[in-house]
Amino acid sequence: MKTMEPITVYVHFPWCLKKCPYCDFVSFAKAREAIDHRGYADAVLAELRKREEVLGERELRSIFFGGGTPSLWEPDEMGRVLSAVTAAAGRRSPDLEVTVECNPTSLDEQRARAFRAIGVNRLSVGVQGLDVERLRFLGRLHDPDGGLGALSAALRSGMPRVSGDLIYGVAVGTVEAAREQRPEQAAAEARAVASTGVTHISAYSLTVEPGTSFGELARRGRLPLAGDDGVADTFFAIDEALEAEGLAHYEVSNYARPGDEARHNLGYWQGIDYIGLGCAAYGTVSRPDPRWGLRSAGAEGHDGEASAVRYRNIVSPERYMAAMAEGGEAIAVESEERLAPETRLSERIMLGLRLREGLDLEAAAAALGVPAWPPSRRRAAERLERAGRLEVAGGRVRVPRAAWVFADGIAADLF
Ligand code: SF4
Repeated sequence: MKTMEPITVYVHFPWCLKKCPYCDFVSFAKAREAIDHRGYADAVLAELRKREEVLGERELRSIFFGGGTPSLWEPDEMGRVLSAVTAAAGRRSPDLEVTVECNPTSLDEQRARAFRAIGVNRLSVGVQGLDVERLRFLGRLHDPDGGLGALSAALRSGMPRVSGDLIYGVAVGTVEAAREQRPEQAAAEARAVASTGVTHISAYSLTVEPGTSFGELARRGRLPLAGDDGVADTFFAIDEALEAEGLAHYEVSNYARPGDEARHNLGYWQGIDYIGLGCAAYGTVSRPDPRWGLRSAGAEGHDGEASAVRYRNIVSPERYMAAMAEGGEAIAVESEERLAPETRLSERIMLGLRLREGLDLEAAAAALGVPAWPPSRRRAAERLERAGRLEVAGGRVRVPRAAWVFADGIAADLF
């Protein structure tokens, strides 16, 4: 059988019941009844029709409904999108992964069964923590029982794979009397989530982003913050707890039972093309279809393997839906850029070094047609190796686990 290049699809659903104060994703607070479930599905389907030529030439490896809170979306409407995406693919991977991001307040067993019925095989649930005060501080609408209950409901529904998300490195209280989550508390919470039987856990440290409520509080010096040393200790406490529970630490922030790694995210980390559908979605596609009518001069043309275009769709849901309802040839793109091969290699390094297995730098560079080891990178790699922060073997580079908390900085040294 002829081999086809793999591709993944991301579908953005832009609404949540409430905006969390730390969140910088494109999401807008809206009551479930006020959401135009059908209209949004129609808009995404209209966009898909304009992008389906690319899908038709590829093997579809995964579909990810992210947001926002896509578990708010009526399953029938999501199902129309899911069917159309899978039908447009040239081929479906035999282990096609279909994930929906969920919040505990919009997931119960019945809803999980409804997702299962339309072909979803993986749910990722935003548990975020198991402490009432911390959840309240994070602006979450659920309590610890709600988080664990949503995981259990998902598993009871027969959903084959369920992931729980955690946020650590959170301090509550006041700046003057901040109370940090202790490493042993974080480990206990991770163990409790693992004990529900989930197949995967993501554990991210809280990052304070500009433009969010937390960012504004931090700017004014009013946000209690956890110290760097405590956050690093917590990282290793969670690592130890989850490895002992049989969840392998396969990426800096992700753990999985064997074979249950998130295939969609692995696609990003391994540099596989992806199509983004929906408002604010990004896509990155090598050799895009000329009929996409890319607007920027720098984005035009497609001269071989190394060329790729990254686009971003219109951010506002209303403007996106209006543009798609108008019909015509245009795609609702807000911006697009041509990615130079060197930029793509830097991204591969950035993301690949977050994986336990690291990255085959020489193979990635050869595929992109750029040198793997310009003198500056060679010097930086030797320096990092001496410091115990990088291992170089054959063409592969990887960050030893003890240095994972520095992974992003290490990658930047290698650009
Ligand atoms: S539920 Fe998730 S996407 Fe929605 S505001 Fe909170 S963190 Fe952001």
